[in-house]
Amino acid sequence: MKLIAWLDEISNRDVDVVGGKGASLGEMWNAGFPVPPAFVVTADAYRYFIRENKLDKKIREILKDIDVNNPEELNRKSEEIRRLILNAKMPKDLEISIIESYNRLCEESNGEDAFVAVRSSATAEDLPDASFAGQQETYLNVKGAENVVKAVQKCFASLFTPRAIFYREQKGFDHLDVALAVVVQKMINSEKAGVLFTVNPINHNYEEMVVEGAWGLGEGVVSGAVTPDTYIIDKKTLTPKSISIARKDIMFIRDEKGETKKVETPEDLKEKRVLSEEELRKLGEIGLSIEKHYGRPMDIEWAIERGNIYMLQGRPITTLKENSNSGKTLEKSQESGEILLKGIGASPGLASGKVKIIRDIKEIDKIEEGDVLVTKMTTPDMVPAMKKASAIVTDDGGLTCHAAIISRELGTPCVVGTQRATEVLKDNMLVTVDGEKGIVYRGEIKRGDKKKEEKREISTGAPVIITATEIMVNVSMPEVAERAAATGADGVGLLRAEHMILETGVHPIKILREKGEDALVEVFAEGIRKVADAFYPRPVTYRTLDAPTDEFRGLEGGEDEPVEQNPMLGWRGIRRSLDEKDILKCELLAIKKLRSEGYKNIRLMIPLVTNASEVRKVKELAREIGLELGKDVEFGVMVETPAAALIIEDIIKEGIDFVSLGTNDLTQYTIAIDRNNELVAKYYRENHPAVLKLIEYVIKTCKKHGVKTSICGQAGSRPSMVEKLVRWGIDSISANIDAIDTIRKTVARTEQRIILETIRDGRFSRD
Ligand code: PEP
Ligand code: MG
Repeated sequence: MKLIAWLDEISNRDVDVVGGKGASLGEMWNAGFPVPPAFVVTADAYRYFIRENKLDKKIREILKDIDVNNPEELNRKSEEIRRLILNAKMPKDLEISIIESYNRLCEESNGEDAFVAVRSSATAEDLPDASFAGQQETYLNVKGAENVVKAVQKCFASLFTPRAIFYREQKGFDHLDVALAVVVQKMINSEKAGVLFTVNPINHNYEEMVVEGAWGLGEGVVSGAVTPDTYIIDKKTLTPKSISIARKDIMFIRDEKGETKKVETPEDLKEKRVLSEEELRKLGEIGLSIEKHYGRPMDIEWAIERGNIYMLQGRPITTLKENSNSGKTLEKSQESGEILLKGIGASPGLASGKVKIIRDIKEIDKIEEGDVLVTKMTTPDMVPAMKKASAIVTDDGGLTCHAAIISRELGTPCVVGTQRATEVLKDNMLVTVDGEKGIVYRGEIKRGDKKKEEKREISTGAPVIITATEIMVNVSMPEVAERAAATGADGVGLLRAEHMILETGVHPIKILREKGEDALVEVFAEGIRKVADAFYPRPVTYRTLDAPTDEFRGLEGGEDEPVEQNPMLGWRGIRRSLDEKDILKCELLAIKKLRSEGYKNIRLMIPLVTNASEVRKVKELAREIGLELGKDVEFGVMVETPAAALIIEDIIKEGIDFVSLGTNDLTQYTIAIDRNNELVAKYYRENHPAVLKLIEYVIKTCKKHGVKTSICGQAGSRPSMVEKLVRWGIDSISANIDAIDTIRKTVARTEQRIILETIRDGRFSRD
């Protein structure tokens, strides 16, 4: 029986011996790639540990007849097993083998006690997807033989976390069939690190590589906490075709105690380019060889320590279209690269097309498939044209304006808040829009995503990480439901109602007057049904109409909408709905109708609450039509005003199941910044201490009262905010379609970090 395997003894075929992670590291090592040295405590060693301590029978006994849907039972049993494993004795020969191997690793690293990463590597060969492997623990910066042995034992125990037990029960796997190998690998204390894609994942150009790099440890780039420099490399010459230097205000480092720390970047490095031409060439060479070795485009995590390049992880890129762009179609204009305008990058992606300026909705027919729509600010009646556009550019707006929300949902690159787009750009000019960086270039730099089906892909093939915090998705247009569902999100955290009406082009009052109640009920029901179908049985949170007067005035029959000085502070949200009860009643009837059709996955939420009495009135109205909110349908409120946040206990007393933080409005109302006004966009901060204080207060108060919390504002799509929310105990996060992958990773990483910190603090430790 082999207890330890070194990387030079391992290949891709050894998943059953060293787990998925161990096998892929061994494969790269033996192909000659610069992987940090490592050994693996094998799956046999784990089985030996279990056998010697006679744990198999005990584990089986504990898990017999477990009800994994009972969280208390699941947690109790998981803890019992983990305690058994942590208190068991590491067999002497196995302990000696681990210590000797660690010492050998240290000898190869100058003889000092080395920092190592101790990573779980599950033998998931008979499991349907690799996500299983990601569920066990990793311990970074472990030092000293004794600590390494302990960390290995902790990894063994992590095979029985509640979510791992839950997953195996759900999938019908025998708990004792799955074994766990443990990789012990020298830590790299990098001065720079990042990610390399061997094919450009944005425009799917197979003749380009993309390198992202930042200072310090790779943690910052991988989690999305740091905006890295981006280098696009020509695969033939291995020279950069485009370089974008980001301002890197923070970086991650290893401190004296060996802990990973987020610190401010030294002033002179903040705007300094991270990678030299020589380093890019070397990274490019390694990227090419790895791609050749695996025979497919790869996504590689790299790090540079004292000038030496290391590969820390390699996995196939799952979001590419097969050879969708061979690079031969790459057309360069003479003037490519000249910056015409800068604004706020509101929806990532790169696209080129002819400018069409829309000054009045009557001109909307000008937009043809693939054009760049340029306007002061988009309005809901422009949506059909927005769908045809390859990119959208506006004078006004910030990250949560109409253009930004809709284009992110459509997957169309968008730049907002340029202030002068309608002046600077001229009809029929050829431009390229970079929705990531917020730049409009003259000419066609790269072939853009012109056709809808070529639009930015969402990662649907990637393994789904299971997180304790639910990951939900926001939907504004029912027609994107399938695309949203394909993200693997746990449900819809916000389904906006506005577009269901705007799509008809007719004001709801006019529909009601001319076609009757049933017709309006069906408008709502049709939209909700589309989404509830795509997600069934996952929950869909329908939010009642939040109709701002300025947006509804453009509809047929909308002439009577009052003209308000400041619509954002005006007749909108639930206060308007309670004034126009006939429309709200139709929305409630639509939910009732869908329930009778069998859709049990719909929840109801009301917007812009400022008084507890609004909650009571909605419940009364629902009761009148025979719908018991909180009983027949889960019922919640949006917290979008400081008022709602501060009186959350009064609102809870009215009886609600959940709240959802609407940070788009909460921010504007807390710090007095109009979310649509580009002049003050730079002051719009969802992480302003006052906003954070309100959010923390709401989450903690709701927790105390057993009310679930979620977020559906744009801040839920930002990794730095999500870290805080998870730490405060939020139950779910609802993000934009394009942000789901990143947010899911951030949540998983934060949850794991919390567990690690808890263990380090001794609050969880059993040894
Ligand atoms: C919010 O205010 O955060 C929110 C999600 O609602 P909307 O953007 O539709 O106002
Ligand atoms: Mg809002």
